[in-house]
Amino acid sequence: MEAKIQIPPVTLYNTRTREKEEFKPLKPPYVGIYVCGPTVYSDPHLGHARAAVVFDVLRRYLTSMGYKVRFVSNITDVGHLEGDADEGEDKIQKRARLEQLEPMEIAQHYTRVYNNAMAKLNVIPPNIQPHATCHIPEQIELVQTILDKGFAYVVNGSVYFDVPKYAQKYEYGVLSGRRLEELESVTRELRGVEEKKHPADFALWKKAPPTHIMKWKSPWSVGFPGWHLECTVMNAKYLGIPFDIHGGGMDLIFPHHECEIMQAVAAWDTEPVRYWMHNNLITIDGQKMSKSLGNFITIEQVFTGEHERLSKAHHPMALRVLILQTHYRSVIDFSDSGLASAEKAYKRLVQALKKLETLEFIGGKTDSSKEDKIIKHINNFYEFMSDDLNTARAIAQLFDLTSIINQLANEGKSVQTVSPEIGEILKRQYSHTLVDILGILPEDEHLDTSRLHAVLQILINLRQEARKHKNFQLADRIRDQLREIGIILRDTPYGTEWELE
Ligand SMILES: [Zn+2]
Repeated sequence: MEAKIQIPPVTLYNTRTREKEEFKPLKPPYVGIYVCGPTVYSDPHLGHARAAVVFDVLRRYLTSMGYKVRFVSNITDVGHLEGDADEGEDKIQKRARLEQLEPMEIAQHYTRVYNNAMAKLNVIPPNIQPHATCHIPEQIELVQTILDKGFAYVVNGSVYFDVPKYAQKYEYGVLSGRRLEELESVTRELRGVEEKKHPADFALWKKAPPTHIMKWKSPWSVGFPGWHLECTVMNAKYLGIPFDIHGGGMDLIFPHHECEIMQAVAAWDTEPVRYWMHNNLITIDGQKMSKSLGNFITIEQVFTGEHERLSKAHHPMALRVLILQTHYRSVIDFSDSGLASAEKAYKRLVQALKKLETLEFIGGKTDSSKEDKIIKHINNFYEFMSDDLNTARAIAQLFDLTSIINQLANEGKSVQTVSPEIGEILKRQYSHTLVDILGILPEDEHLDTSRLHAVLQILINLRQEARKHKNFQLADRIRDQLREIGIILRDTPYGTEWELE
């Protein structure tokens, strides 16, 4: 790193202590990060995009500082029941039943959809992406440990975590601030309390009803693990307990993350995580995103523009910029116009990068105030990034730099007002901060992949419409001509998919 550039120590807001704290890894230079991944039963939506981009930038930033990061993010393919509680049907199994498919087909399909969306958003794949169903023996073992320690009980083949027993020895609600007494009044009416001794107790293992497809043998019954169990097991297996950073959306603080803490403390008498980080949620035009309000927007819909709230297909990087323009602990109110201005902002950032690459800094008539500004904006970038990952203010520094770069470009290819030394710093740092740290990919102006995807989708829809109107000649012509250029259309239960020959 150049002498003129300083990177301050990182501080992070820790949900556990409710304070910004200096980040000190437990075993430097290694850093373990775990982020709760998707439950793979439907298309990933804007909320998934936000969590993934936020923690991707955290990972990139720590890596750029020389830390060796192991990033683990799981795939929940069993145990996540409807309503996030201990009752109801498994989300994946329900989808499988409705679509007459194997649950694993559902999980496989949506894992692929999720990972494709992440690739388009330029999110680096996790070092490890473990599946819950691949860790059933470990989960059974953890249930047994918690039973042996006396913090769980068995009823009719199901195992529940004994929260009041836990609260006698350890503090309850350390992450969410909830108190056991409050919970008693709130959850008493919930269904399924009958087997539990206390409404705050939660399932570690559930005996499977006869119709249940995804089930495994255990010492207590043929059944399946509780949703919170997998994360504790995979934390411990791949990062060790305790580890540095656990992330996820704010909606996971309770009950999911609170239960993760209780499970680990009950089993190993130690809190599993040093820093808990939670990103805020996304609202759509001021409303909570939900399927019933019709404002539920999937990531792919942003890229194809196929949603009534969207005026056009948007570049994936526009979504990335939009996410980074808000601090991760604030709500993002998503709108089509907001996305359109993020797209303009993206173009401005990338065009400045291209201009900068063509400039040659020869000095001779150096303007020290201009040079100082360049160095100041770069240093400010790092200051804001280190201040609890304030990407909103950090990216604003890059916009200030684009103005300076545009001024410099007006001098012609040979820039005299900035010395070769400062010019080199500007070139290196602008590209490093934009591309390596914020993960904003410059792309060529000509047809990019996301637009190609959108064009293909238009053709697929036209073919669909032709078939609906019994114009099979036209439909076949679209399919055959696409095949001639190596694009195969396949009609599946999810609609028509395409693949390259
Ligand atoms: Zn989790």
